[in-house]
Amino acid sequence: MHSFSDRERGLGKVISFVPTMGFLHEGHLSLMRIGKERGDTLVISIFVNPSQFGPGEDFEAYPRDLDKDLELIKHIGADAVFSPERDELYDERFQTYVQLEKLPDHLCGITRPVHFRGVATVVSKLFNIVKPHISLFGEKDFQQVAVIRQMVKDLNFDIAIISAPTIREDDGLAMSSRNTYLTSEQRHSAISLYRSLQKAQELVNRGQKEAKTIVEAATELINSYPDTDIDYISICDPETLDAVNTVNGPTLMALAVNVGKAHLIDNMILTT
Ligand code: AMP
Repeated sequence: MHSFSDRERGLGKVISFVPTMGFLHEGHLSLMRIGKERGDTLVISIFVNPSQFGPGEDFEAYPRDLDKDLELIKHIGADAVFSPERDELYDERFQTYVQLEKLPDHLCGITRPVHFRGVATVVSKLFNIVKPHISLFGEKDFQQVAVIRQMVKDLNFDIAIISAPTIREDDGLAMSSRNTYLTSEQRHSAISLYRSLQKAQELVNRGQKEAKTIVEAATELINSYPDTDIDYISICDPETLDAVNTVNGPTLMALAVNVGKAHLIDNMILTT
């Protein structure tokens, strides 16, 4: 991978990079298309990163289908796919992690305490291996984008981070590799995440500014669907992720809900 990237850089090519955990869907493909437009050489990584899964999470169960992924990537026309084995990135003596101080103490980081340390570590490693000029991330994982942007700034990576909008199913469910865990009844319940975000924006449109009232309405809506277990619903500052009491100007509403075995997340910028 190093020599591939060195060669491309030597030829003056702009390398764009899309890191993924595979089991690709339209959300991933949208990032790849943007990557292709913005750069000359598109590199994709496929790696289910063990260090971002906590004990008891779904590392083993996480869906994998490399052959199908490679087929989808072929249609996009990537220049390289980097798909290392676990031991190639983490040998038994591995001991260096990248840990942010504040951003992980919010949203998903609260119930997933090692998650963002794992994300920041693997993305740093991938950046050092792939040596991209540009890297693309989905806004569905809003906190992840914030963590990566902060890390790139703090550690002086010379890489432009581009974020791209969430791609949704026709009914609004955010595409996710984890949607495959849903039974057909749970698939119906999964729509409650997007519905609650839409409901929140409707309330704001009607003049409701109190975060507490909006969160209560979202909670009630989600709880009315079977097999849903709310992890968090947060209305917060889109930069610091600190909770706010009122919606004044663009404000992030982010939520995570366990629907059956699937830990699903979604978010929306509420606008006044
Ligand atoms: P993952 O394979 O889940 O680690 O995701 C790889 C990249 O795809 C991340 O930057 C995600 O934010 C992005 N992504 C995942 N789902 C979507 C989606 N529905 N729309 C846009 N980007 C997505």
